[in-house]
Amino acid sequence: MDTSIIGAKDLTKTYPARNGGGAVEAVRGIDFEVQRGTCTGLLGPNGAGKSTTMKMLMGLTQRSGGTLTMFGTDVRSLSHEQRCKIGLVPQDDNLDPDLTVAENLLIYGMLFGLPKAEVEARVPALLAMMQLTEKTNARVNQLSGGMKRRLTIARALINNPELLFLDEPTTGLDPQARVMIWQRILELKKSGKTLLLTTHYMDEAQRLCDHIILIDHGTILAEGSPQELIQRHVKKYVFDITKPVPLDLPADIEHEDLGDSVLFYVDDGKAFRSLLADDVQFWQRPANMEDVFLKLTGRKLRS
Ligand code: ADP
Repeated sequence: MDTSIIGAKDLTKTYPARNGGGAVEAVRGIDFEVQRGTCTGLLGPNGAGKSTTMKMLMGLTQRSGGTLTMFGTDVRSLSHEQRCKIGLVPQDDNLDPDLTVAENLLIYGMLFGLPKAEVEARVPALLAMMQLTEKTNARVNQLSGGMKRRLTIARALINNPELLFLDEPTTGLDPQARVMIWQRILELKKSGKTLLLTTHYMDEAQRLCDHIILIDHGTILAEGSPQELIQRHVKKYVFDITKPVPLDLPADIEHEDLGDSVLFYVDDGKAFRSLLADDVQFWQRPANMEDVFLKLTGRKLRS
């Protein structure tokens, strides 16, 4: 049985030349699949092509080439029923500021052609889920940024979608709001929904995603589960040694100079620790997705 819900083959997007500049090849022929009931993360530095890929998936921009299917159908020919199985959490909150919290959900639900009574019945549970019950009758322009984000997620769930796109769902939120949204995302995954998310937070990706697609310059650099990527691209442990670094460490150990300290990547943490004298200042931690990300995309700042 085919378990993929999204399939992209040789997907490309070229933005036409503008203002005297050349054409921009934002996505350069990528292949990927999203499996039903999983959370897939699309990661990459600024300008990598994540938003362009998301926009093609959300139907907000046309692809230039390749194929892109959802529920086995070309995204350009999705039926109304298929569109009703999709939920969108765009990067920018596009809530109606003049309507109340409940009205935003109601109007959005009715755009799917759902009966008013059915949408009305769903609103209280969604607002409770996103801890917005107290704000039911507040106007959107009275909400904080975090509340707006939570409302956008509630709104995306009004049609009880099978497939949910989350474009940077926690950007700019405080830690409490992030943790709360992580819990909701994990619950949605548990309930069988398929999630595709972009994020700049590697801890978020590691915690939420079953599968990660790392892109840069419009191509896929690596993909796999967070654990697979960590095992494949970095060692088990990272030792962050404050300078001066002992001179007698074996030269063949993979390391990276950060200026004030040097990172050493090793599999056998105990053996490496035994090489360090008592006065060496170091911090040992398990390798994580941030290490993979920086190793594969470099430490140079992007715009
Ligand atoms: P990311 O989301 O990973 O930061 P984007 O998909 O936004 O990357 O951008 C990929 C490339 O496409 C960048 O070089 C960006 O400047 C360019 N780009 C994005 N949107 C447009 C647009 N509407 N017109 C022209 N170029 C664009």
